[in-house]
Amino acid sequence: MSVLSKFIFENSIKGFLDDEEGDALHEYALSVAAIGPCLEIGSYCGKSTVYIGEACRQTDNTLYAVDHHRGSEEHQLGEEYHDTALYSQSAQCVDSFPVFRSTLALANLEDTVVPLVASSKLVARHWATPLGFVFVDGGHSPENSMADCMLWSGQLAQGGIFAVHDLFEFPEDGGQGPFLGFQRVLQDCGFEKIAQVKSLGFLRKI
Ligand code: SAH
Ligand code: MG
Repeated sequence: MSVLSKFIFENSIKGFLDDEEGDALHEYALSVAAIGPCLEIGSYCGKSTVYIGEACRQTDNTLYAVDHHRGSEEHQLGEEYHDTALYSQSAQCVDSFPVFRSTLALANLEDTVVPLVASSKLVARHWATPLGFVFVDGGHSPENSMADCMLWSGQLAQGGIFAVHDLFEFPEDGGQGPFLGFQRVLQDCGFEKIAQVKSLGFLRKI
């Protein structure tokens, strides 16, 4: 188990990412420091953020962590992945931001990660900085996944890396949204496939 996976385990950082996938995110994020900053869509409690953010900390790079912190469809009250500990009684909705924020402090990433508490679409509206690395793990509906893949793959600098989580080729294994978005970027947007670790795929902008 890597040092980062051990940190995640020992601090019970919640999330939806396999250790090997996290280590792959860390490796590829390390490799882009000379190309541009990193950005993730879908931080939740900060599990992926720790892997990518630590790579940025080590290379004096920056991670922009985009999440409205209101949860995806499956996190809402009564849904399969609802977590009562992340439900704000005062706001009467999911709020993962307080936990995300404590993860950043715990991991010593407050001078490396810029939390952007807003929807992916809003952050994209005036985005103009060429990116070195993009990780897409936000809303998983076909519409959301396709929109995120098209919006954010277009923001990568040449040589930049585009990663998408929850790629399932067959419907019986999981939702098709991320897979369809990933395939579209690979086919139409000038990228080559460089790796796949479990359900996490990596492309490089040619
Ligand atoms: N990467 C995380 C898991 C992300 S879960 C990990 O490693 O554990 C998906 C997250 O995407 C949720 O926190 C949800 O709030 C966020 N999300 C869903 N749709 C979004 C959107 N349109 N804009 C921004 N964030 C979104
Ligand atoms: Mg995921």
